Formats: sequence, structure tokens, C-alpha cells
Amino acid sequence: MTEVCVRVAVRIRPLLRKELLHQHQVCVRVVPSGSGQVRLGSDRLFSFDHAFGPTTSQDEVYESCVQPLVESLLDGYNATVFCYGQTGSGKTYTLGGGSKDEGGIIDCVAQDVFLLLAKRKNDDNIEATVRVSYMELYREELRDLLDMNTNHKELVIRDDEKGNTVVIGAREMVVTSAEELLGAVEMGNALRHTGATGMNEHSSRSNVILTLQVHIRSHSNKNPSLKTVRSSKLCLVDLAGSERASKTGNTGAQFKESALINTGLLALGNVIRALSDRGRSRRGNGCSSPHVPYRDAKITRLLRDSLGGNAHTVMVACVSPSHHFIAETLNVLQFASKAR
Ligand code: ADP
Ligand code: MG
Repeated sequence: MTEVCVRVAVRIRPLLRKELLHQHQVCVRVVPSGSGQVRLGSDRLFSFDHAFGPTTSQDEVYESCVQPLVESLLDGYNATVFCYGQTGSGKTYTLGGGSKDEGGIIDCVAQDVFLLLAKRKNDDNIEATVRVSYMELYREELRDLLDMNTNHKELVIRDDEKGNTVVIGAREMVVTSAEELLGAVEMGNALRHTGATGMNEHSSRSNVILTLQVHIRSHSNKNPSLKTVRSSKLCLVDLAGSERASKTGNTGAQFKESALINTGLLALGNVIRALSDRGRSRRGNGCSSPHVPYRDAKITRLLRDSLGGNAHTVMVACVSPSHHFIAETLNVLQFASKAR
């Protein structure tokens, strides 16, 4: 089995109305040749697997980077899609799953999973179950977004005897249609506690993880009683604002909080770097296989079996085009281009 490393897309959102009103200038553009490059300012080029500009539609983003993962999910491969970027850069918009805006990745995934399963049911004589779980990781505390009764309690993460990460007591809902799946997501969104901080402030600090588990049983034609079972999962992750990973100089409680958020994003960065180094050393004839530090934070523990190995991983790095955010955009482009 060939190891697939991390594929990276960058998406530049349009200038927002208020940014146009305040005459923000565009500082980052897709290079027109279509080679997956973006140019920051006049001279800094960065290369990615895909580069999407302000006119790229939600469907185009889905079709070029996520649809292939949905197909391989049904073939038994785990996958992760995560959106990385500064607060306000378009992560939540790109993932979608809310009732406003045009549908995003989550909406397209919901449609396609059930469409493809229906097609396979006809062709291959299979039975499938889809389960969804939805969790929020806020200051290294994991909470269930699908269970109003336990939402205030912290979920415990354990490793089972096979070395898989399991979350004790997280609710898994069986869903049988795109509508049911999106209904669960909306219910979860309503449970995100925003406390004293506003939604934007809250979402800049929290990671949200939507997991779809697909369980397929198939009866072979030669032996109708024989059942083979295949299980796989897809994680769709809306990460904390990347500015949290570069912010320093906070003190006291603020410092503790930003340190906790840093833990997650920095650990994820280290895991991705180790995976792409490993991919590189396999492709060359290098024999060293760098240690992948999954255990350093909860986000990497949770994603462990869907990052690396035979899992397919796509990172969508979201950036604002505005020159006001050029410093953070540079951070994000550097982080993302190193991930490949
Ligand atoms: P984040 O989740 O990274 O903090 P949001 O997804 O909330 O950012 O996006 C910030 C704002 O920009 C929202 O008002 C959103 O609707 C808008 N936006 C983001 N990406 C796009 C896009 N590709 N096209 C149009 N509007 C966008
Ligand atoms: Mg957001």
C-alpha cells in the first residue's frame, strides 16, 4: 500500500463588503497559470496541490479536494479534512453545515455519502450504517455537541488495546439521509457554548470535529450468507484560529488559555510535518521514519487513526486577501506549504 501524505489546498476568500468600504487592498492572488501557486505581495510565491481564488465556488472546492476522499471512505479508507487559518479567513464558511450561506464541504459530503451508498446498494448488494458524532475541543477540554444532557461534562479519551483512540461516552447518532445528518450538525452548532465571549471570540479558540463512521456489510454473490464488514471514518475539522498559535505576550489566565490553544495547533503542525517528512523519506530512499508525535495534544490523539498511515488527509488553508492581515497570511502560507 502506498502511503498518501497530506494534500494541501489554499483558498483566498473575496474581500468582504466592509473591507471594500474601507478600501482594503488585495495582497494575495492565485497565479493564473493554474499550477496551484499563490503570490503574496509582488514577489513571494507558494506552491500547493490546489489554489482557489475569490471566485471559486463551494462546489469546486468540494469536487477537487474532498469528493475523492468520500469515494475512498466507502472503500474502507479513513480520511480527514481540516480547515486551517486565521479567524475570519473562511474556515467555517468553507466547511458549511450551517443553515445560512451556500452549502459547504459538510453539505456536499452529506449529499454524496448517501448518494454513493444508494448506488452501491444497487450494484453490490450491501448494507450500510452511517453514524455521526460531533465534538468541540475548547482549551484542551472535549465536549459532546450532540448531547444536551452531558454537554457540560468533559469527555475522556482513552487508547484501547489495539492502540485506537476511543472517546468514552460520546454520542453517536445513526443517520439515514443527508437531511438527518445536517440536522444533527445544526443541533450541535446550537450547543456550542459561547459563554461571556461572543461567537467569533469563542470559535477563534475552539476546534470542532465532525466524524462520520461508515460501516458496510456485504453479501457476496457466491456465498450469500458470508458477510464482510468494512468500517471507516471521515473527520471534518474546523480548527481554532491560527493567530492563536503565533500570539505571544499574553499574561495570566489569557496566557494559560493561549498556551492551551497553542498546544493543539502546534501539535497538529508537528504531526503534519512528521507525516510529510516520512512521505518524503519513503519517496526518496531514506530509511529513517520520523516519530509522529500524536500524543502531544488531544486534537492529534483524536485524529490519530485518520491522519497518516493509509488515511487520506486534506488541509484547506484559508486566507483573507486583505493587506491588513498580510503578516498572519504569510504565517498560514508558510505553515501550509511546509505541510505537503
Ligand atoms: P472563520 O471561520 O475562519 O473565522 P468565516 O467562515 O466565519 O471565517 O468567514 C468570515 C466571513 O467571510 C463570513 O462572513 C463569511 O460568510 C465570509 N466568507 C468567507 N469565505 C467566503 C467566500 N469564499 N465567499 C464569500 N464569503 C466568504
Ligand atoms: Mg469559524
